[in-house]
Amino acid sequence: MIYDYLVIRFGEIAIKGKNKKRFVEKLEDNVREKLRDFPGLQIKRHYDDIEIRLNGEDQDRIVRILEKVFGIHNISSAVKVGKNLESIREGVLEIARAETEAKTFKIAARRKDKRFPIRGSELNQDLGAWVLKHCERLDVDVHHPDLTLRVEVGDHETRIYGREYPGAGGLPVGTGGKILLMLSGGIDSPVAGYLLARRGASIEAVHFESPPYTSDRAKQKVVDIVKKLRFYAGDIKLHLVPFTQTQLAIRENVPEDYRVTIMRRLMFRISEKIAARTDALAIATGESLGQVASQTLESMNAINQVTDLPVLRPLVAMDKLDISRIAKEIDTYDISIRPYEDCCTIFLPKAPRTRPDRKHAERFEHFLDIDALVDEAVRATETVIFGGREERNAFSDLL
Ligand code: ATP
Ligand code: MG
Repeated sequence: MIYDYLVIRFGEIAIKGKNKKRFVEKLEDNVREKLRDFPGLQIKRHYDDIEIRLNGEDQDRIVRILEKVFGIHNISSAVKVGKNLESIREGVLEIARAETEAKTFKIAARRKDKRFPIRGSELNQDLGAWVLKHCERLDVDVHHPDLTLRVEVGDHETRIYGREYPGAGGLPVGTGGKILLMLSGGIDSPVAGYLLARRGASIEAVHFESPPYTSDRAKQKVVDIVKKLRFYAGDIKLHLVPFTQTQLAIRENVPEDYRVTIMRRLMFRISEKIAARTDALAIATGESLGQVASQTLESMNAINQVTDLPVLRPLVAMDKLDISRIAKEIDTYDISIRPYEDCCTIFLPKAPRTRPDRKHAERFEHFLDIDALVDEAVRATETVIFGGREERNAFSDLL
């Protein structure tokens, strides 16, 4: 590759007014963190972009990583030359010759420094003619060129951009507060976590397991999903809640058709306590309206009653097909469809109540010692940190 630089542009962050500096600083942190295995890089933040000097590091690998960093609008590969026509011509031609796949091109030149004597339109003409003359393979196509050569004459130097890669969009992770994601091994909740991370939230995950009714393989699914989400969401703490006692108590004391409702109310209570411990400001789930019997509005209403925290349901209005498409894109789908059952499915009645009534739910809870069950579950919760270098864990065999 002939390129010396990658240039990251921000997109949406750029319009965030006063917040811009904070957002861009966070983005720079996240980029540095993701690229820490490339010691040769020099990363520099400017007002409008972040510039990465490659110093011979593998551009394609770096782009693959940056494509998953939220808050990036696009990434361009670039070379830098001086502020005179000869070097600009030379630079443009060098890229044109190196991009051997391209058959058509256009020049898009702009002078940011208005003192530079040649205007953008004149540069376009001159450089277009120069490339046509010296690179026979290429023809001009101003509408759908294979290669757009962007030229930007700045205050101190000229950048010439060759390739452009779309970024992941969204906002930098860590600018949006912390959310506790209820993460099952299913298809939906990982997608919910991904979408919230995309809006800048940091994610911690809580997973309920019921050994020995649920297997280590079910837990492994969740671990593998967290490791996928980490590409997008950065470090993730996973809280593993032992839920067997609670499930058994529910099975013994609650009429069959209300078990799902009560179980989910307990999940929310436990999650709320864990959220308080970790400073999370909201709980998130992968629920989608009407998808299964327990995801009716009546059910959400009966379940929400037990917590004061906002419950975010980013998939609430999405179809299963669209959710699955995203799950495939973020590579969690194949993990989610592994056939091991999680705690919800194992104790499930054949016919859960689709329109539970919150008054009934409250009444059935009198048969349970709710506080004791919640406190014990929270106390016995194990936390695993899936972080960059620091991979602390209670069960290293699963990692
Ligand atoms: P998913 O595909 O995310 O498993 P689902 O369609 O199977 O969702 P439910 O079983 O009704 O739906 O669960 C709804 C939501 O409750 C899940 O999206 C998830 O956020 C949460 N949830 C379910 N089971 C668990 C679990 N074992 N641990 C943590 N959260 C869970
Ligand atoms: Mg599920």
